[in-house]
Amino acid sequence: MRGLRFRLAVSYLLFFAVLLGVLGLVFRGLLDKSFSDQSANLLEEEWGALKGYLKIEHQQDIWYFDRFDPEESLIVSRIQHVFILMDANGNIVDRSPVYSDGVLPTPTIAEVREVLRSTTPVITVVRGTDGVEYMIRAGVIPEERRAGSPEPKRDYYVAIGRPMMESNRTVRSFTWRYFALMPFILALAGIIGWILAARALAPVHSVAHAASRIRGSNLTVQIPPRGAGDELDQLIDAFNRMTARLKQSFDQIRQFSTDVSHELRTPLTGIRGQLEVALFTAETTEQYREAMVNALQDVEQLSNMVRALLMLSQAESGQLALQKAAVDLSQIAIDIADQYQIPAEAEGVTLNCTAPEPCWVEGDKTQLERLVANLISNGIKYTPERGTISVAVECRNEDALLLVRDTGVGIPQENLPHIFDRFYRVPGAHTSSKQGLGLGLSFVAWIVHAHGGKIDVDSTPGKGTTFCVTLRRMEAPPPDEGRPKEAVRRQFLIHE
Ligand code: ADP
Repeated sequence: MRGLRFRLAVSYLLFFAVLLGVLGLVFRGLLDKSFSDQSANLLEEEWGALKGYLKIEHQQDIWYFDRFDPEESLIVSRIQHVFILMDANGNIVDRSPVYSDGVLPTPTIAEVREVLRSTTPVITVVRGTDGVEYMIRAGVIPEERRAGSPEPKRDYYVAIGRPMMESNRTVRSFTWRYFALMPFILALAGIIGWILAARALAPVHSVAHAASRIRGSNLTVQIPPRGAGDELDQLIDAFNRMTARLKQSFDQIRQFSTDVSHELRTPLTGIRGQLEVALFTAETTEQYREAMVNALQDVEQLSNMVRALLMLSQAESGQLALQKAAVDLSQIAIDIADQYQIPAEAEGVTLNCTAPEPCWVEGDKTQLERLVANLISNGIKYTPERGTISVAVECRNEDALLLVRDTGVGIPQENLPHIFDRFYRVPGAHTSSKQGLGLGLSFVAWIVHAHGGKIDVDSTPGKGTTFCVTLRRMEAPPPDEGRPKEAVRRQFLIHE
């Protein structure tokens, strides 16, 4: 596998080579064309001169020019260098040595006739036996007749030409030099491409280098942005954000393990204390029993905590898959509120539930029941005697709202942002007098989040707290769907 730098440089070189090649061919073509046009123009000029100097009378060509004028002599001799005059039957009337020596082929009768028929000049390029290319211009010149001559005027085939030696040589030399120079230009381009590729990839190397330095203990690695605002800066930015997110997750995990060890230590110390009491100071069976009961309570707390932690970690790692179906949030609220009547009475608080109409949501019934149960049990826990917990379900347009309101101790404003954090318990006498792990609301937040909903909390210390869960409402399903049969439901609740 070649490196990216190599591939970049080679692609650049290939592209450059193809571009140079195409450019060379285009220039060569243009040069060729311009020489041909130039020759054609010169031939046209010579043709014009020819018409002035040449007269065909009585099937003979007669050249009228001043032999003592060097300029005219030069023009005529140039015209006569490649020259052939033929009649309509293909008989040669006059020709220059290039034709008589066979350097150029004598036109066939068919070619002669075609030119005589044509109204435009016929220009061809013919390679002579001397290896030189000639541009030939063939046309028609009518015979001159004196007025009153009985014979009709005849048309004659005339061809003149120019050797294209010079232009061919120039094109050849251009082509040769251009393509001979190409390897050097390409070598230079290759070196430049190699250097440019290295420069372009330098930030990628710094990202790779930074990534290789990352360890769980060293997540503060950040690559300074180059400020170019290009794709590589975007890569650097994405990388920096990724390490920041990783750092946050690692910090959370670290914090979590510290919290767990701390939380586990409390009941463990309790158990140890109770057992030590039993071992060293208890004398009567009653004292032993009391120590055992206390130790058992701590064990119970420990196992509750471990179970809750396990569930929370399963939930957050996606192992606790939701079994979504159409569920009636109102019915859930009524059922759970029913179940909590006895604990509420035991605490001396009133628990009521208002859910006047069915309110359907797409959700996991077990988890939604857990959600309602957690909020109600918190309400009961943190509401002093003679307080009230009101549960309500409201269907509002697109939303299904679950409100759990209590007239309890409330939560100070500064503690509100943390109550959904794992193990967070609002510091103070109200909380510490109650048993709890600080995990209930974390689980509530996860359930709401997993259902695509949101949870708001409004609280006034000393007056009470309101939790408001908003879920997306759905159309009521057909009558027998989403309504579990009574027997099944009972069985489910017993399991819970
Ligand atoms: P806990 O097991 O301590 O109840 P939660 O996660 O359910 O844990 O709640 C976190 C903290 O939020 C509680 O310790 C308590 O201080 C506070 N809290 C939760 N619900 C209420 C409420 N209804 N009234 C007052 N404080 C509450």
